[in-house]
Amino acid sequence: MSAVQTLNARDDLLELADLYEQVAALDPSTPSAGGAGVGPRVPPGVGELLQSDEVWRALADVDDWIGYCASIVASDVGDGPMPQLTPARLRYVAAWALVMLEQDDEVLARSFAAELARHLRVLRQLAHRGEHRVPVGVECRRQGCDGQLVSNLGGSDGTDSALRCDQCGQEVPFLV
Ligand SMILES: [Zn+2]
Repeated sequence: MSAVQTLNARDDLLELADLYEQVAALDPSTPSAGGAGVGPRVPPGVGELLQSDEVWRALADVDDWIGYCASIVASDVGDGPMPQLTPARLRYVAAWALVMLEQDDEVLARSFAAELARHLRVLRQLAHRGEHRVPVGVECRRQGCDGQLVSNLGGSDGTDSALRCDQCGQEVPFLV
C-alpha cells in the first residue's frame, strides 16, 4: 500500500467527517447528528428540500460502517477507547488509515477503500443538494470522470466562487 493511497484515504475520511456533520445539520429530523452546531449555517428552507429518509439512511450507513472500522482499528492499535460519535470515529480511523489499508485480509482492506469512496460520493451529493447549481459547460478534468462542472451560486457552504463537478465533487477554483 503506497503512502499516497494512505494520504488519500486519510483526506477522504476527514472530508467524510465534515460532510457527515454538514448533512446531519441540514436534516432537522436526524437525532444522532453527532455534530450539532458544528456544520455551516444553512439558509432557511434548505432543510426541507432534503428527503429525510434518504439522508437518514445514508448517515445510518456511515454509522454502521465506521463503527465496524473503528472497532478493528481500536483492537489492532489498542489506542484507548474508540470515540462514540460518528464524526469522531471517522477522524479516529483517519489517523490510523494505514491500519485499515494494510489489513492481512485483502478483501477487508479493499472493501474498506471501496466503501469509503461510496460513502463519500453519497454524502457529497446530499451535502450539496440544496444549492442552485448552474452548469457552466465544462467537463470535469479528473481522469475517468464524465461529470460536468457546475457553479454553486447561492451555495450554503461558502464555496460560491468555486466550480464543482456534479459527479465526483472535485472543486476547481474559479479564476476571473
Ligand atoms: Zn468529476
